[in-house]
Amino acid sequence: MPLYFYRPEKTPCRMCGEGFERWEKAGEARLSECETCGQRVFAQLPGSVNTPKHSRKPSVSEAKEAGFTVLKRISSGEYEKQ
Ligand SMILES: [Zn+2]
Repeated sequence: MPLYFYRPEKTPCRMCGEGFERWEKAGEARLSECETCGQRVFAQLPGSVNTPKHSRKPSVSEAKEAGFTVLKRISSGEYEKQ
């Protein structure tokens, strides 16, 4: 049963603020109006809220944990396992 986040058309809403969460059964129709204030609301897909960004370059130890062989350049053309 996914948790949907609903955001009203105009925020902050006097009644529901920046939005509200609602558990929905599979196949249940999405809300189109806020149950509290009747304003038009837009459903955000589960998992799209506060999704962490993985743009950070992994560190050497993280790369090793992930199974990568980390090579250190010791001189031109030569590489050594760290
Ligand atoms: Zn509302």
